[in-house]
Amino acid sequence: MTTTTTFPLAFSTTPSQAARDEAEREEILADPGFGKHFTDHMVQITWTVDGGWHDAEVVPYGPITLDPAASVLHYAQEIFEGLKAYRHADGSIWSFRPEANALRLQRSAERLALPQLSTEDFIESLRQLIAVDRSWVPSAHETSLYLRPFMYASESFLGVRSAHKVDYRVIASPAGTYFTGGIRPLSIWLSTDYTRAGRGGLGAAKTGGNYAASLLPQEEAYRNGCAQVLFLDSDEGKYIEELGGMNVFLVRHDGTLITPELRGTILEGITRESVIRLAKDRGHAVEERPISVQEWRDGVASGEITEVFACGTAAVITPIGVLKSRDFEIGDASAEPGALTMSLREELTDIQYGRKPDRHGWLTQL
Ligand code: PMP
Repeated sequence: MTTTTTFPLAFSTTPSQAARDEAEREEILADPGFGKHFTDHMVQITWTVDGGWHDAEVVPYGPITLDPAASVLHYAQEIFEGLKAYRHADGSIWSFRPEANALRLQRSAERLALPQLSTEDFIESLRQLIAVDRSWVPSAHETSLYLRPFMYASESFLGVRSAHKVDYRVIASPAGTYFTGGIRPLSIWLSTDYTRAGRGGLGAAKTGGNYAASLLPQEEAYRNGCAQVLFLDSDEGKYIEELGGMNVFLVRHDGTLITPELRGTILEGITRESVIRLAKDRGHAVEERPISVQEWRDGVASGEITEVFACGTAAVITPIGVLKSRDFEIGDASAEPGALTMSLREELTDIQYGRKPDRHGWLTQL
């Protein structure tokens, strides 16, 4: 199904009667955490098989009414995105590569047999929400407003087919500094019993089921003192793929970056792609190819691999200190974060927060 609106949607706005006052908002923004608090409004757009996208609205944030037979509740026909709005020193609000999120939502939509929302309407939906909830974009160092667009099958029908009614929503949640008390290297758990995605499956789509599949191994990671799970390929169980919510890079002593190639089983991270660009701009070689766990272990043992890091919208670029599995443990949790890891992180956040020129045209004002 590839219904794309051919004209920009016109939005109407219904202001919330229950909007928090400034004091309540400031109290939340002083310590927002992540994903716990939500702004006063949300966007909604409805799609029907006969009418395409229509009824684009900004409405008060609140519960959604769904029929118990809504197919998303049974067959998980659902996709989402995640990106941030950053407040610059002059008070202006910007997003980072939102057109890349729009394209990824379109790719996810195609795989999940959901209708596509045009890039223009996607970006307009973010602008419309920011227009009413601007004061929710925090200004403290490395804070942001996390934007969560999502789309789900809302038709009441228990037959297994793509839904004839779909809803798109955008909600927003202020996000604090991901690392309170400085950046600490992550310990990650290598999942050998469970995989996340198979060839031809949903791995490259940002869909709830992939995250549902990661929850049990994530519990295993916590039990083993690790913050994230590293998944292996489902064919041979030999090659690294990605973490539950981040892509992964290895750095060789000669400055070469190595990251798993895109073959449909991992999410095409926008941070991943940006890191590749920034590293190449600096003259680093970047290899996108299969990386075996054995290569990682041997590389760390021989000193060939000098840094490992994870990257994604939430934690930007985060050093990985330890890789742990049932059979082995490598790395050092107390090691200092790698120099290249930290300088790439700084460069990326400097661009996002407007502290450095946006040479690639990555920022879009909201
Ligand atoms: N992999 C997975 C499974 C993720 O959920 C995310 C976060 N969206 C990423 C990688 C990183 O993607 P991005 O850099 O676009 O946030």
